[in-house]
Amino acid sequence: MSSDVPSPTPVVAARDLVKSYPPARRGGTETVVLTGISMTVEPGEFVAIVGPSGSGKSTLLYCLAGLEPPSRGQVLLLGEDPATLLRGRLARLRRSGVGFVFQSFNLIPSLSARENVTLPARLSGRRVRAAEVTAALAAVGLQDRGSHRPGELSGGQQQRVAIARVLAARPRVVFADEPTGALDGATGTAVLGLLTQAAHAGSAVVLVTHDLEAAARADRVIVLRDGAIHGELRTPTAAEIFAAVHGHPAGALR
Ligand code: ADP
Repeated sequence: MSSDVPSPTPVVAARDLVKSYPPARRGGTETVVLTGISMTVEPGEFVAIVGPSGSGKSTLLYCLAGLEPPSRGQVLLLGEDPATLLRGRLARLRRSGVGFVFQSFNLIPSLSARENVTLPARLSGRRVRAAEVTAALAAVGLQDRGSHRPGELSGGQQQRVAIARVLAARPRVVFADEPTGALDGATGTAVLGLLTQAAHAGSAVVLVTHDLEAAARADRVIVLRDGAIHGELRTPTAAEIFAAVHGHPAGALR
């Protein structure tokens, strides 16, 4: 009998992932954005993806999340290949196991904060207890804003509603694309703290960010350059991430 402890099934796995876009006009050249990415994200792991602007971070996140089909290679999201799932099954997989936090918040403007938080559960036919929603709003400091619509909330508050929605749904994986991009420093730090909390509560988190302090909260940082994985760091400091992204220590070329 083997004494090896079996490794858990990754929540996200990419194998030789290539993404290219066809030429915008006839005779043009195709844009190759991802050149062959293989990576996994384990249950409960907090992974940040960093790299220079245009290196393919958002495209990689969208492919991993099943929002963009790969051109070649394979993605497994919660053990399923989004490219082969029928649309209805993919939607169910997303609603039941996947949370999203985008820079633009993506709340439904006509629904209150409470209703936005309960939406994923309602869409997947799951009953949510009022106390759970109250607890999720309280966790992000918005217990007294439940009846407000997104338009009546600041950007930071809207992002916190989006995170309360994720916390209430308890997804197995959260994809976050520059979630602090539209927030001031202090609000951004609070939002990152909540994402870290989601990871501690058992959700894996995949975070795309250009904020190296934010990335330094992750268990593992994947550095992208020109659509390929340039390096991987475990619990690095922001300075170590800077050096990996730019190829030299901060301030070295001044
Ligand atoms: P990052 O998030 O690292 O800034 P992106 O993933 O947004 O990078 O984009 C990587 C590259 O892919 C960019 O050069 C961008 O112009 C290109 N790209 C992204 N989406 C498309 C698209 N729909 N069609 C053509 N090129 C695209």
